[in-house]
Amino acid sequence: MEEQKITDKVQTKITCPNCGKQADFDMWLSVNTQTHPELKQAVRDRSAFVFTCPGCGSQTPVDYGFLYQDPEEGVMIQYVTDDAQAEKLHEMLTDPDSKRLLNIRNAGYLIRIVRSANELADKLAIFDAQLDDRIVEVYKLSALATIRKERPEFDPVDSEFVFYTDEKGHHRLQMVNHGEPFGSIAVNMDAYHAMENDFIGLLTDMQHDDPLINRQSAIELMKILGDR
Ligand SMILES: [Zn+2]
Repeated sequence: MEEQKITDKVQTKITCPNCGKQADFDMWLSVNTQTHPELKQAVRDRSAFVFTCPGCGSQTPVDYGFLYQDPEEGVMIQYVTDDAQAEKLHEMLTDPDSKRLLNIRNAGYLIRIVRSANELADKLAIFDAQLDDRIVEVYKLSALATIRKERPEFDPVDSEFVFYTDEKGHHRLQMVNHGEPFGSIAVNMDAYHAMENDFIGLLTDMQHDDPLINRQSAIELMKILGDR
């Protein structure tokens, strides 16, 4: 059987920041969890994005954008680090006449654009937990209001909540303030489901929503709820 050659990774040279030795490093342009099942975990624990120096053994995280595609779960996440590229991609993925968008939707994919490694980890954990990222964002917005009352130093702009599931299977939010860890809080699933109920009839299919789901989209969703 002839195997189709797909360029899913490129080799690049990295200079070790510890000892200065230069070595090869595989950069994944596209991660398909069906053709490379071993990457499913390596993307989640970020071990796929760590350069291990063959000279001194020191490890350096390498952060770059790529396409994550899970055909079994029907999830496609494009991680984009560049603003202009993200804007262009967003335009294309919200254009109802776009052939690429049509193909993605016809294949049953949910598509999201993320802008940081934290956002990528957040989306993956949310979809792994079979939750709706739009409702999780609404939940985070209410968590933000609560946290701000208790700990006013939590910046309402330069902060984020990263969803994760702990080893006991409990859903939690890791808080990040000015890029620094700020502790974590449990996700109250009863409150989550109550919010989900509030939005019944107001949300489109997850597959047909805007690919950018973040704090801003939660603010817009709350406005829609208020106008109901
Ligand atoms: Zn080294």
